[in-house]
Amino acid sequence: MHSPEHPQKSDSQIPSAAVKGRIFDVQTFSIHDGPGIRTTVFLKGCPLRCAWCHNPESIETEPDVGFIPAKCIACGQCTLVCAHEGHTIVEGRHVFQRGFCVRCGACTAECPTGALELAGKEVTAAWVMSEVEKDRMFYERSGGGMTLSGGEPLMQPEFSTALLRLARDSHLHTAVDTSGYAGETVFNRVTALADLVLFDIKMIDERAHRRLTGVSNRPILRNLKRLLREGNGPKVWLRLPVVPGQNDSADAIQNLIDFCASLWGNPRLEAIHLMPYHRLAESKYQEFGKRYFINGTHPPADEDISAIIRRFAERGVPVTRS
Ligand code: SF4
Ligand code: SF4
Repeated sequence: MHSPEHPQKSDSQIPSAAVKGRIFDVQTFSIHDGPGIRTTVFLKGCPLRCAWCHNPESIETEPDVGFIPAKCIACGQCTLVCAHEGHTIVEGRHVFQRGFCVRCGACTAECPTGALELAGKEVTAAWVMSEVEKDRMFYERSGGGMTLSGGEPLMQPEFSTALLRLARDSHLHTAVDTSGYAGETVFNRVTALADLVLFDIKMIDERAHRRLTGVSNRPILRNLKRLLREGNGPKVWLRLPVVPGQNDSADAIQNLIDFCASLWGNPRLEAIHLMPYHRLAESKYQEFGKRYFINGTHPPADEDISAIIRRFAERGVPVTRS
């Protein structure tokens, strides 16, 4: 079982700008990852294994190679650079032999159509900040900033703290989108540098949480409660995914309502958002050769989400749909 201990070695001698980390995307003009217009930096690696994960290429710390057959023109460029027989052209059709691939990324650099994609690269904090700074004008006008997401930013605490320090020094608003699954030291060190924590709560029942995500939620709930107790810590938005057949039973929702009602009123808890499951990520599982365990699951009906929101409201907890 994975334990939420410090996963990245500390080297406080390295200046923040030079600290390296692994990311798989930098998304500009994000409007769902905190207030205003934001740039979201997606860090690679996550200790949880949620079946509904929207970013399957985020889960492993190692790079992932994606292949989109519809974009492939069978030009054969990839066969020329792969030293591991990862690609062959058979009767004019390209075949990706994923089992032979060592994820070096050489073919993805040569593919002329973008049919091959490498998700995961090592970059410095300085490089990330140079990307983030490009949209400063939009942050200033909209009240936005930079969000660290993933994957799980707490899996790379040195990199995350370096990015948050650099952003703070540049007077940028910062948010960390997290599962909350980390040891206390790492959790405190990273979140103390953020203006806002987007904290996912997937399930209150511990055994069910372990079954759905592969890990216990005890450290998660401990971290959240401690975070809200601290007088001058970051603001918190709770994010509650609703996934039909996974975490939306009557008991599960009731537990969630009771839990949120026990926290609501804390001045640092600014908002609670329901995050209805959607199917937009399904094709990504195929692209990256991952198994989609909840294939065929439909998004929750609007009236079901409205009913959940009403039940929260009846307990005096305002919840909005994200
Ligand atoms: S290089 Fe790209 S387009 Fe050409 S065969 Fe390989 S995957 Fe297809
Ligand atoms: S990523 Fe490297 S090993 Fe994998 S198919 Fe491409 S060139 Fe071959």
